[in-house]
Amino acid sequence: MGKRTLIDRLAILADAAKYDASCASSGSAKRNSLSTNGIGSTEGMGICHAYAPDGRCISLLKILMTNFCIYDCKYCINRVSSNVERARFSVDEIVKLTLDFYKRNYIEGLFLSSGIIRSSNYTMDQMVEVARKLRVEHNFGGYIHLKSIPEADPALIEQAGLHADRLSINIELPREASLKSYAPEKSGAVIRSAMANVRHGIESRQPDRKERGKARPPRFIPGGQSTQMIVGADQSSDKDIMTTSASLYSGYKLRRVYYSAFSPIQDSSGDLPLIKPPLMREHRLYQADWLMRFYGFEKDEIFEARQDGMLDLDLDPKLAWALERRERFPVNVNRATREELLRVPGFGTKSVNRILAARRHTNLRLDHIARIVRSLKTCRDFIETVDWHPSRALDLVTLRDRFVPQPQQLQLL
Ligand code: SF4
Repeated sequence: MGKRTLIDRLAILADAAKYDASCASSGSAKRNSLSTNGIGSTEGMGICHAYAPDGRCISLLKILMTNFCIYDCKYCINRVSSNVERARFSVDEIVKLTLDFYKRNYIEGLFLSSGIIRSSNYTMDQMVEVARKLRVEHNFGGYIHLKSIPEADPALIEQAGLHADRLSINIELPREASLKSYAPEKSGAVIRSAMANVRHGIESRQPDRKERGKARPPRFIPGGQSTQMIVGADQSSDKDIMTTSASLYSGYKLRRVYYSAFSPIQDSSGDLPLIKPPLMREHRLYQADWLMRFYGFEKDEIFEARQDGMLDLDLDPKLAWALERRERFPVNVNRATREELLRVPGFGTKSVNRILAARRHTNLRLDHIARIVRSLKTCRDFIETVDWHPSRALDLVTLRDRFVPQPQQLQLL
């Protein structure tokens, strides 16, 4: 077979990268290259592939440097024992592709990951070289997200952080026992140690406000670090997953944990499930993650009524919690604290801010709330206003039924 063209390899390596969900560029600092005579900016808009939490639509060239790998992670299509077609880009090819795509306004940045070639250090070194060439030789001002290899020398990860906007180090599975049996070359301790180094790198470069006039330290991943967990490949419960997330957020100051539903792969180990977990499971995990980060919920509260440690697929976790803790409702929207309002089903952080602002000027009625929230149906039974009280609704055994989606018959054809 002749040598594959660049386009052939792009097809293989872009397809192989699709399994990594941790590529949203949320948290990136705005930057452009007007002052450096280079090219690139994270401020523009292009063809979009992902959405940041602020609603910005971002497009990234998302590829693997290679899908060749010497590791044998059972859940991965690129593992050494997998029978897939392999391909590889050189450093210069990735740099050229990124610049060419950027100049055509196809992308706003690069998400680069890789299988392990030769060794962790060699692979990480090649990825750092891509970022260095883009930033230093081409003054590239676009977004760069590098997937770091936890086993690599910390000095290489440090170098990566100086050029990239974000680093991600994937924890892969929530429990150490699962990691041992599904990814024998990986270790939770090594992954956490790499995350700790990145956290130290970020914190050691925070400008000291007391020492005014001192030169600012070099920028180091302004978009922070993130990780990804595969959902449904092992027997871990949702509670196991959120326990790991909670410890990662607090221990390593992660910007995001991404949850990626396991995709069954060809010729896979008999230990792996044959079907994908429901996509709704991934969605509920994101909602629970949101509750922990922005709504003041503790992980144990979310699961206190869930004996099996699994989130309710029919209800969003805040609504499920409120139905179990009805004694805490109704919440008086004119007097409740911000923390109490954040626990009302259907109230998002923006709605709560608007309620707090509006009630400074008037006593809120139900029609005020209807204009603030997306759906009055979700919150009505959990609040009281000057003209509304849910009366006995909170005592109804059937209250849950009002919120559970009704089963629908499938189309015949
Ligand atoms: S190290 Fe990464 S690319 Fe290699 S088998 Fe494991 S998950 Fe796949």
